[in-house]
Amino acid sequence: MNAVFLDRDGVLIEDNGLLVNIAEIRLLPSVPQALGQLKAAGFRLVVVSNQPVVARGLLDEAGVRQVQAVVEARLRECGGPALDGFYFCPHHPQANLPAYRCACACRKPEPGMLLQAADALGLDLAASFMVGDRPSDVAAGVKAGCRTVLLRTGRHADKPISGVTQTDLALTPDYTCDGLLDAAAWMLQFRSVFRL
Ligand SMILES: [Mg+2]
Ligand SMILES: [Zn+2]
Repeated sequence: MNAVFLDRDGVLIEDNGLLVNIAEIRLLPSVPQALGQLKAAGFRLVVVSNQPVVARGLLDEAGVRQVQAVVEARLRECGGPALDGFYFCPHHPQANLPAYRCACACRKPEPGMLLQAADALGLDLAASFMVGDRPSDVAAGVKAGCRTVLLRTGRHADKPISGVTQTDLALTPDYTCDGLLDAAAWMLQFRSVFRL
């Protein structure tokens, strides 16, 4: 079973900073169509998202799940497919809330969420892809043993998030493009060429 792991902000929806209000959710263009193509080709679709809003005390874990439910409802309204998993990291090394203050194994650039999903869903990581818009997404994907795609959505050129090392930054994507539709076409072609 292979999967496409998807970062949320900047990949599925607009990244406007810390999202806590469902009124601010905006699906990015062609996302329902791109996900539909991947799902039709047999990929499991798994969202893996750092959610430091929890560590900061801006939104609780139930709130993060509520936001995700709205994202998934919007996708269906726009003709997109159902998603197969949602994993998020609520931790941060400098969290305001002590319960979430730790150097965890799930916050990207670490691969913990991908490994957890692979275990739970029976995924073949070497035949799976990670799509994100930051170096931390690429690093998490490479460390999990996946192929990686970097989307140029603006955030790709931001200062890396905390926890990203020079070693992480040296991990480069297999493909770089401007949107999920282009990424989907590349992944589908890659899979057929290499018979993943
Ligand atoms: Mg992002
Ligand atoms: Zn974590």
